[in-house]
Amino acid sequence: MIERRRDVPIWPGDHRAALCLTFDVDGVYGEANYQDQSNTYMLSQTEYDPVGTVRILELLDDYDVQATFCWVGRVAGDGPDLVRRAHDAGHEISMHTWTHRYLNQLTDEEQLRDFELTFDALRRITGVDPVGHKTGGWRYNQETHRIAQQLGLIWVMDIPNGDLPTLMFPNPERPPIINLPPSFHYDDYSFFVDKMLTPAATYDFWRDDLGVLRSEGGMMCLTMHPFVSGRPGPSRAVARLIDYAVDAGDVWIARANHIARWWLEREVSEPNAGLIGHTDD
Ligand SMILES: [Zn+2]
Repeated sequence: MIERRRDVPIWPGDHRAALCLTFDVDGVYGEANYQDQSNTYMLSQTEYDPVGTVRILELLDDYDVQATFCWVGRVAGDGPDLVRRAHDAGHEISMHTWTHRYLNQLTDEEQLRDFELTFDALRRITGVDPVGHKTGGWRYNQETHRIAQQLGLIWVMDIPNGDLPTLMFPNPERPPIINLPPSFHYDDYSFFVDKMLTPAATYDFWRDDLGVLRSEGGMMCLTMHPFVSGRPGPSRAVARLIDYAVDAGDVWIARANHIARWWLEREVSEPNAGLIGHTDD
């Protein structure tokens, strides 16, 4: 049951909320940052990535919805066929660092190099310039977002600062970029690896949050991983959430770049218009 507490639609059309499905393809590099190097099982979890990616692509195709894939550059270069398949299916291909190193542990020059390698690798594969970036482990610093601006990106998904996109001006001399807010609460790793919850419990959590966001006009940015949500049961949690969103009829399921572009254009033509529904007057 949705209680419509605010009557100012802030999303395109009649949509009351936005849902952004993102899939981070870490390959071997993500886990290598977290795990004990002798723990070969945990290190090899991401060997499942290609299987999970195919299942996710088929699921998205079944529902005819578009998602955003955040690809580690070196992994994309090692397996370009899957990147091309996702791109050809209409999904956004965005950046997730070169080898999933924590960017706030790199020098400014190293960070720039990391961005450039990934940008070039993805562009070579898809023929399209990536426009978004999610920092590995959400470990960024101010330079990270200055570089994103410098490369002409329009979005990052790093700062869990609310339920709406926000304009950022890391370098005031350049055009602003959009932060799309992630959350550990919307990260499949929290539910299926850190804790071994059931797909039903995970779906219930996400559905309840999306219900509140529908009443408030917010957005949900899910961060998922093919080696986690691409597994059989967890993939049903994703499917059920899409089912819920589609049945609701008022949720804009959109790629990160479409949401960021729309928000940027709206903010430029009507500054702060998106906040009207979030005031008490
Ligand atoms: Zn990652």
